[in-house]
Amino acid sequence: MKTLLLATRNEGKKMELQEMLNDIGISVINLHDIPPLPEVVEDGKTFKENAEKKAYETAKATGYWCLADDSGLVVDALNGQPGIYSARFAGPEASDENNNHKLLDLMKGIDESKRTARFVCCMALSTPEGETLVVEDYCEGIILRQPVGEQGFGYDPLFMPQGYNQSMAQLSRQEKNLISHRGKALNRMKPIIISKMSE
Ligand code: IMP
Repeated sequence: MKTLLLATRNEGKKMELQEMLNDIGISVINLHDIPPLPEVVEDGKTFKENAEKKAYETAKATGYWCLADDSGLVVDALNGQPGIYSARFAGPEASDENNNHKLLDLMKGIDESKRTARFVCCMALSTPEGETLVVEDYCEGIILRQPVGEQGFGYDPLFMPQGYNQSMAQLSRQEKNLISHRGKALNRMKPIIISKMSE
């Protein structure tokens, strides 16, 4: 079985991705499963630059095939904020709850029709030699006025996907994978992983 290293310590992401790659016989590990590496500095100006840098540097440092993603929430009424700063929107050590609180505060008084937003996911695959391929996908929706639901993570309780009347945090992991930015980006990446890793 081939191994794909995810450039993340997030166990939730590892679980999501392993579920989606089970059927093609690829075993997923993350940075917790290998000896410590120096942190990759996410200093790109776009999701794409950050994803490429994480995948490339981690593959180079370890010799593994490496998959990295950079994702976040883009809110139209906030000129694209929090964007690439989604994880640290309310400060360097901000919790999901702190970030959601800040988002709700900034969105106070904003009309229903102007609450449009999207989750964005940029995903990069690097070969051990450093060749890097990138895909991107989106999940459109609106920002709710209060948190709803217990599943998922991050901004899920405040995000209602287009065509649903539930928040992302009310969907099961499988339902979320079908419509999420990361699920859709991975579906684009899957054939690339298969063809590249079996070369
Ligand atoms: P990352 O680049 O995937 O680590 O995501 C950065 C930040 O974007 C996370 O810390 C979350 O705040 C937010 N985010 C990314 N994906 C999701 C998601 O699927 N649901 C909710 N929030 C997300």
